[in-house]
Amino acid sequence: MKILDGKALSLIRAENLRLRAKEFHKQKGRSAHLKVILVGKDPASAVYVKNKILACQSVGIHSTQATFAEGTSKEAFASELMQIQSDENIDAVLVQLPVPPPLTEEWVQNQLHPSKDADALSFESLGRLMAGRSWVKSCTPQGIIELLKHYQIALAGKHCVVVGRSLIVGKPVAQLLVQENATVTLCHSQSRDTKAQVKSADVVVVAAGKPGLFGSEDFKTGATLIDVGIHRQTPDGKLCGDVRWDGLDKVLAAATPVPGGVGPMTISCLLENTLILAERRMKGF
Ligand code: NAD
Repeated sequence: MKILDGKALSLIRAENLRLRAKEFHKQKGRSAHLKVILVGKDPASAVYVKNKILACQSVGIHSTQATFAEGTSKEAFASELMQIQSDENIDAVLVQLPVPPPLTEEWVQNQLHPSKDADALSFESLGRLMAGRSWVKSCTPQGIIELLKHYQIALAGKHCVVVGRSLIVGKPVAQLLVQENATVTLCHSQSRDTKAQVKSADVVVVAAGKPGLFGSEDFKTGATLIDVGIHRQTPDGKLCGDVRWDGLDKVLAAATPVPGGVGPMTISCLLENTLILAERRMKGF
């Protein structure tokens, strides 16, 4: 079974991102700038934000954090965000999810203008993705497509099954697979025949957020698996995905590990999206 190594691919991609970041700096006289917004004090979110800022620094992208107190009102958030988005020296903005009430994920994402929407999750950005007219594409779905392409996993005419219909992963990745000419089935918690669909698939993308949902017995021989799920196991604290790993190598042709598969590709696409949006604005679009 081939390991679809997202960590290794993200390191290869970092070389190109470094060159682009350098070229941007040369032409613009400053680094491309990603503003990462953290609302509240969730320790896991704080770690994710810190890691994103460090990843930016590693390729020469400037990244700063804006922190909002837990309980920030919609009015206060919107007014502060308007200032951030109108700052000429900020090229892209990412709001770390989840956000605490009274803010909601959907509301927050829709405050972002598509020209600065680093994770492309506003309704306008998602509509552009649906129309095949994206400026940038949502990071996790795009990372999955980049990984499949890098490892030359054929998609045209293949049956791809996506398990999960969130706006962050399931729906946009299904759309991107359609754009790669795959025949796509989207399964969700109300689907009656998810296991049968998965068993018939050439490529399976699992983004259900349910550890152990599938195992080696559920896949067709020679299929490719993209496991998007991330869970911390007890008691050892190790990370695992939505799929049980034991025995997969006897059935599958290729699979992403957890960790080291989709996660690093998500970050890599965030860095690329920041550069794409920065370059776009520099060219006056
Ligand atoms: P979500 O909870 O928003 O959506 C889960 C989806 O799975 C829902 O559409 C639901 O209908 C479906 N589902 C749940 N149980 C099911 C079942 N038994 N059969 C079929 N469908 C089922 O989750 P999400 O935000 O899309 O994230 C999914 C997983 O991916 C989580 O574990 C999350 O942590 C992980 N994730 C990883 C990355 C990454 O970069 N690696 C990025 C985003 C999300």
